[in-house]
Amino acid sequence: MVIAICNQKGGVGKTTTAISLAVSLAKEGQRVLIIDLDPQGNATSGLGFDKSELRATSYDLLINELPIRDCIVDSGRENLDVLPTNINLAGAELELVSAVSRETILKRSLAPVQKDYDIILIDCPPSLGLLTINALTVSDSLIIPVQAEYYALEGLSQLLDTVSKVKKILNPDIEILGALITMYDRRTNLATEVASELRNFFQGKCFETTIPRNVRISEAPSHGQAIVEYEPYSRGGVAYKSLAKEILNKLA
Ligand code: ADP
Ligand code: MG
Repeated sequence: MVIAICNQKGGVGKTTTAISLAVSLAKEGQRVLIIDLDPQGNATSGLGFDKSELRATSYDLLINELPIRDCIVDSGRENLDVLPTNINLAGAELELVSAVSRETILKRSLAPVQKDYDIILIDCPPSLGLLTINALTVSDSLIIPVQAEYYALEGLSQLLDTVSKVKKILNPDIEILGALITMYDRRTNLATEVASELRNFFQGKCFETTIPRNVRISEAPSHGQAIVEYEPYSRGGVAYKSLAKEILNKLA
């Protein structure tokens, strides 16, 4: 099962969700691979890797055709491997334009290890360019994190439009696993209103779990840990653990 975590807006909680889910699902006994497909490499550093010391990255996989097994590293956690990245990947978006079958490169290069994992999570960059298209083309489903803020709905139709195009042309099997309301502050009317607007918009496709705004979540990456490791009993830690359970139930 390959799941892309995708929204072309930055700062909506994609990377936080990718890291937290990867670690939570691995703790639940799933064999997990997390792929960092954002040149900013926040998933890579958030899991404790030094971006300047990577032997190989997702850039080498996509552009230099390095075999996937030479790019994947052990996260130091049971059941969790990482395909890391760094800023080199920024060049890939342009270099992919002239590549042969440019939309399916990730799909082809992942194939040799796909059976080694129960769940492969892809942390997408904040754009709808070729990196994201590659992620959507190899994915069975996607999770769309949306921030419970003004303009939450802005850009969503463009995203859903891209997903339908990918579904039509490149990957008929892709489905939305769920939209995830993030940074939810239940004390404000705005957040409550936006959340109900989102539930309306996604018509039963929103996860029941919402992720609260929680300062512990923003502290975790500087410790190279997911929130479920750094402060598992914080409100954020509990929420992400319950999201992992909700997802496992959905997939069962
Ligand atoms: P994206 O990958 O979509 O750009 P991130 O996951 O990197 O978004 O989140 C953007 C910023 O917000 C980061 O600094 C992160 O630590 C912080 N953050 C994410 N989720 C929460 C939350 N629920 N509560 C508080 N801060 C959060
Ligand atoms: Mg990110």
